[in-house]
Amino acid sequence: MEKRNFFGKDVSLIGFGLMRLPRIAGQTTDIDEAAASGLIDYAMASGINYYDTAYTYGGSEEFAGRALSKYPRDSYCLATKCPPWKLKTADDFERIFAEQLERCRTDYFDFYLVHNFAEELTRAKTNEESFEHFEKVGMYDSLQRKKAEGKIRRIGFSFHGTAALLQKLVDRYEWDFAQIQLNYVDWSGTDAKSLYDILTAHEIPLVIMEPLRGGALAALSEASAKILKQAQPEVSVASWGLRYAASFPNVITVLSGMNELSQLTDNIATMNEFRPVSGLEKELLTEAAKVYSQAGTIACTGCRYCMPCPAGVNIPVIFSIYNHYCLVKFRIPFDNGYATLGESERAAACIGCGQCVKKCPQHLPIPEHMQEINAFVNE
Ligand code: SF4
Ligand code: SF4
Repeated sequence: MEKRNFFGKDVSLIGFGLMRLPRIAGQTTDIDEAAASGLIDYAMASGINYYDTAYTYGGSEEFAGRALSKYPRDSYCLATKCPPWKLKTADDFERIFAEQLERCRTDYFDFYLVHNFAEELTRAKTNEESFEHFEKVGMYDSLQRKKAEGKIRRIGFSFHGTAALLQKLVDRYEWDFAQIQLNYVDWSGTDAKSLYDILTAHEIPLVIMEPLRGGALAALSEASAKILKQAQPEVSVASWGLRYAASFPNVITVLSGMNELSQLTDNIATMNEFRPVSGLEKELLTEAAKVYSQAGTIACTGCRYCMPCPAGVNIPVIFSIYNHYCLVKFRIPFDNGYATLGESERAAACIGCGQCVKKCPQHLPIPEHMQEINAFVNE
């Protein structure tokens, strides 16, 4: 397994994201313990030593505690995140932090992040409001205190905001690392390049999330996948995305939310014999991204941060069914998938309240998309 040195630790170039753990069939909440533990054991045996969870990943911290605590503590790095939107005072931070240690069965975190630093930090509307909340609850002081106590080794933040907010964040505070969304579609599509450049200029090393945009870049449309498959038929489409993200020199590890053994083995094979993408491969990826973008998919990663919807709309499932239609341009699977949704789960039930928009890290205009999809359903 390719490793990169991170503050004296050798960290595997692929990190295990624990947000998309396998769930019991038909459920979105209960983790399939046997399947998920099996994946962790396989990952540990294969040299993956970076594990990323969060306070708000429904059961994920508790699972990390159960699955990892049987291994020596220094054989893996544990990263978790604190949700600033749940803090009203510094005492809230203390309470959540203590709960996280207990859930994860540890007495320290190797990496600890402010979760989803963005305009949505407090469900605020502007960068300024977001920043004010971070400062008002004294979050940075709390992080520094925990670091001084040895309960946090390195402090960072995960980020879904604008370049302007990021610039302010790194100008105002010192950070050990940061976590951003970076892949070959978002590099120019959502300006991941600006975020990468700002952080690199500040010598802040990076953990990469969504290298495959929630799995979308593991499938692509037929026309875009063909570009990559023609060039290298023997490797998976997903491997291109991982190699792309890992090829940036300021990247320490690339997170992948693996919930099947086949994904894990494929990713391990990619990172065991890691080759940075060449100039020619980058050109192919740019072309594949261009063709993929023409398919008209919605940039939903399936993270479910937008849920629950007060009207009952099943936002991630609707987007998933619709995106599949955009890729295959075949109506029957869409109609069949949509028919499994109850009346209140469908796009027509959206009342346009906008609550989901404030929570979506991809900043998707969800009510507008619901109107479009409803019109498509009625065509
Ligand atoms: S805007 Fe529509 S989909 Fe979003 S939370 Fe409100 S009702 Fe649900
Ligand atoms: S709509 Fe946004 S918040 Fe909801 S699942 Fe998709 S990316 Fe996540």
